[in-house]
Amino acid sequence: MDDQERELRRSVVEACREMATAGINQGTSGNISVRVADGMLLTPSGLPYDQMTPEDIVFMDWNGEWKASEGNVPSTEWRFHLDILRAKPEVSAVVHAHPTYCTILAILQRPIPAIHYMIAAAGGNDVPCAPYAQYGTAELSALAVAALADRRACLLAHHGMIATGVSLRKAMWLAIEVETLARQYHGCLQIGTPPLLPNDEIDSILKRWGQYGLRERSPQAGLAA
Ligand SMILES: [Zn+2]
Repeated sequence: MDDQERELRRSVVEACREMATAGINQGTSGNISVRVADGMLLTPSGLPYDQMTPEDIVFMDWNGEWKASEGNVPSTEWRFHLDILRAKPEVSAVVHAHPTYCTILAILQRPIPAIHYMIAAAGGNDVPCAPYAQYGTAELSALAVAALADRRACLLAHHGMIATGVSLRKAMWLAIEVETLARQYHGCLQIGTPPLLPNDEIDSILKRWGQYGLRERSPQAGLAA
């Protein structure tokens, strides 16, 4: 293991703990992957984050062959992590969790519409909701890859959420942002039917961000850099 891989493993463990402090994770249901040259580094199945060390992180190659320290196996959701990284070369990290508000909407099989301009952070005018398939299956993976075709995040019906990024920091930032949007939408639905921003407004926001990068819209420069 070289220094770079050790550092990546450490950042995955750190991000897992961040999911807990950010309140976007339930138990050990969340999992994280990062791209390496010949495959991905992925969180192991069922290991509490406070006990997780960089050595527990599992390596998996592009064919699904994996290597782990004793007692560890890849997260049961390895399939969509691998398939998303394979399908989207611009993505370097995938964050999956069951945050409460995203999951409430996912249970209702509702995408998050353009209630706020920050929806554009997911790459378009909504955060789509992939249809239901059982966790860990190739079917779920195919549905997730399809939902992410032109988006950086999606909901998974009756399950949770996936956020991707060009770096682990950006994927984590987006995961928290999408949960915030889900919470705002949930709040709006308590009062009535929220009006939505038109598509050309979202296109205009995307154009601005394309020009100036993501930094201008995030006070957490480190996360958005
Ligand atoms: Zn899950």
